[in-house]
Amino acid sequence: MATIAFIGLGNMGGPMAINLVKAGHKVTVFDLVPAAVKTVTDVGASSADTAVAAARGADFVITMLPASRHVEGVYLGESGLLAALDSNTLVIDSSTIDAATVRKVAAVAKERGIAMVDAPVSGGVAGATAGTLSFMCGGDDDAFAKAKPVLEAMGKNIFHAGGHGAGQVAKICNNMLLSVLMVGTSEALRLGIDNGLDPVRLSEIMLASSGRNWTLEVYNPAPGVMEKAPASNDYKPGFMTELMLKDLGLAMETAIASSSATPMGALARSLYASHARNGNAKLDFSSIYQALAEQ
Ligand code: NAD
Repeated sequence: MATIAFIGLGNMGGPMAINLVKAGHKVTVFDLVPAAVKTVTDVGASSADTAVAAARGADFVITMLPASRHVEGVYLGESGLLAALDSNTLVIDSSTIDAATVRKVAAVAKERGIAMVDAPVSGGVAGATAGTLSFMCGGDDDAFAKAKPVLEAMGKNIFHAGGHGAGQVAKICNNMLLSVLMVGTSEALRLGIDNGLDPVRLSEIMLASSGRNWTLEVYNPAPGVMEKAPASNDYKPGFMTELMLKDLGLAMETAIASSSATPMGALARSLYASHARNGNAKLDFSSIYQALAEQ
């Protein structure tokens, strides 16, 4: 069993750290919010007063932070983690951030002989709690092989996408596609309803036809079609519109940097931006269905 420092114990990091404790690892945690720390120390983790203190002597440091600036703040600079860690520690960042920041932090880590893996996740809070997340990893083969057994305590699909930043690129490709599928499925359902079809019957037909996709399988956006989907629970998340918008922003930045044409992703980002501005930022991302219903 490994000695692990876990930094960032929010909606995702809290349950992920709890699963590491349950798997028998020796976990020391740090977060700026004391209540978040308590949820993990309650199940047997230790806590520290700073990220650097939590990481002292650790085999692995895992971070699960909101955005790029938090990741840079925790790792870089004279008081950052990379200045304090020794080269035996493997760094795993599971935050969803831009690939350029991953490469910048990984380069500083490399200068100090420290290996780093970017390992953003898919699966949401439910997957974090159940230990069924998908991890999309970027980094060297050796570092990935070392990280994999630890990630397996928190997830069930652990992919190696390529070098540093590749995990983040895989994640935003997936989420950009998901946003397009969600908007497309919503408008197809609305078109059917507006022309007298029952959304349950139409969903059955499309599921057995060439329009079949993940949103129809497990996440139908029309209320009442699927009992367990957020749509049937007032669009309580789930995966918040504001998080989808964040990921689409990262996808667009990446597309600009690589001169890639992403017309559907750009339109989806714009639709989600107006949906968020209309007061729906905290609703599940499938609530985009309502925006189309209102038009
Ligand atoms: P969150 O805001 O709930 O949690 C972030 C935590 O980081 C907070 O507890 C905050 O106090 C802590 N934090 C911020 N700065 C810190 C610092 N300097 N030192 C220590 N702790 C610090 O966010 P979340 O929903 O857990 O998401 C975390 C990451 O996972 C994000 O990048 C998000 O995009 C990604 N993600 C979220 C979901 C989801 O469904 N929530 C799904 C997949 C990926």
